[in-house]
Amino acid sequence: MARKKKRTGQCLSCGECCKVVRISAVLDTTLRQHGNLEELKKYQAYRGIKVVDVDRENNRLYYEMNIACDKLTPDNRCSVHGKHELKPLICDKYPWFQDNIQSCGYRFE
Ligand code: SF4
Ligand code: SF4
Repeated sequence: MARKKKRTGQCLSCGECCKVVRISAVLDTTLRQHGNLEELKKYQAYRGIKVVDVDRENNRLYYEMNIACDKLTPDNRCSVHGKHELKPLICDKYPWFQDNIQSCGYRFE
């Protein structure tokens, strides 16, 4: 079993993780529906959805949509930070793995 990587660093308020929506899907089921990866990408691209990662080892597929969170302020702050009942749980936990955002202040080693 793979060893869990330790997270270091801190949030630098770049805001990049709040400007897109990321969705994961089951790879083999999705490819069966669409025929192949290129057909899936074509279908999603017409809706502004990007396939950003294909993880064959874990049978996962990751999509990204350019839809910003309306709680993100113009200076890249979270307007509901510290408000437990308003801030989504996933935002508090983010990131829990190495994401593909270069400006993120967190690293995993
Ligand atoms: S709720 Fe806050 S941390 Fe979560 S996506 Fe929106 S702005 Fe970002
Ligand atoms: S991508 Fe990283 S540094 Fe940027 S706002 Fe999100 S958690 Fe903070």
